[in-house]
Amino acid sequence: MWAEPNDDVIPHLDCPMCHNQDRRFLVGTWEDPIGVARCTACGLVHTTGRHAEAVPLPPAHPIDGMRRRAIRQAFERYDRMLGGRLRTPAPGASTLDVGSDEGWLDLMKLWGYDAEGTSTEPTPAALGHRVHDVDPTQCGVDLGRQYDVITLIDQLDLLERPVAALHFAARHLAPGGVVIVEVPNWNHRKPGAVLPDGVELGHQVAFYDRDSLREALLAVGLHSLATWSAPQALDRAISTTKQLVQRRQDGWMNRTLRLAERALSHASDASDQGAKLVIVAHRPIEDVH
Ligand SMILES: [Zn+2]
Repeated sequence: MWAEPNDDVIPHLDCPMCHNQDRRFLVGTWEDPIGVARCTACGLVHTTGRHAEAVPLPPAHPIDGMRRRAIRQAFERYDRMLGGRLRTPAPGASTLDVGSDEGWLDLMKLWGYDAEGTSTEPTPAALGHRVHDVDPTQCGVDLGRQYDVITLIDQLDLLERPVAALHFAARHLAPGGVVIVEVPNWNHRKPGAVLPDGVELGHQVAFYDRDSLREALLAVGLHSLATWSAPQALDRAISTTKQLVQRRQDGWMNRTLRLAERALSHASDASDQGAKLVIVAHRPIEDVH
């Protein structure tokens, strides 16, 4: 049903988060090579297998105008969630991107960050950043330094050991630093659809909603500062209003725009309808030793 009989499928026998083996199927049954199930212990929705051969993923996005715009919008979104902290890094601030998105690293460098990444793929020669050739889900991986901002963008849903990757992030977080995690939003499904749009079973490992992502972060001592998942139209409206606010320095129009921006931001933070889900998290001071 969800894989051809002769496909080579690696079964996922337990929940990637809590390792419980009891599950309630949402798609398929025990007999299907790849199904989707909810863990009866922690509630995480996860796949029950994946293709042994890496499913050919779409080629990495070329860094064209559209891609640059998407990255800039992501930056604006994270910055808004952090109350403007992202665009005002302290001198010498550092950032680490798990997965090493070239466009993202370029942008963070432009904003003044010492930008590094990790990758399990051979580093593309064109990537002009320091990339650590490590698997962040392996125990004991230590890069020997800490970072002010650590990003996992579209990574966690593909990792078989998501908690290990979050542990890696928590271990490498400088005091006062933040972790930004973006994943596809499990709750973004059309009425009657079982899976979110665009999902092809075979390489995803888990699907997150607000609660399961927050709990995954809490499991490694990271507390959520802000959560976001809003429809694109709302996101665009916030971005436009923000630009207008910046252009109009005073007067009633500025005050009106500010009110509109605040209302849109509240609506955005309360919405759970976006294709993507983002949480920014930190390690509370009392946990820092
Ligand atoms: Zn579980």
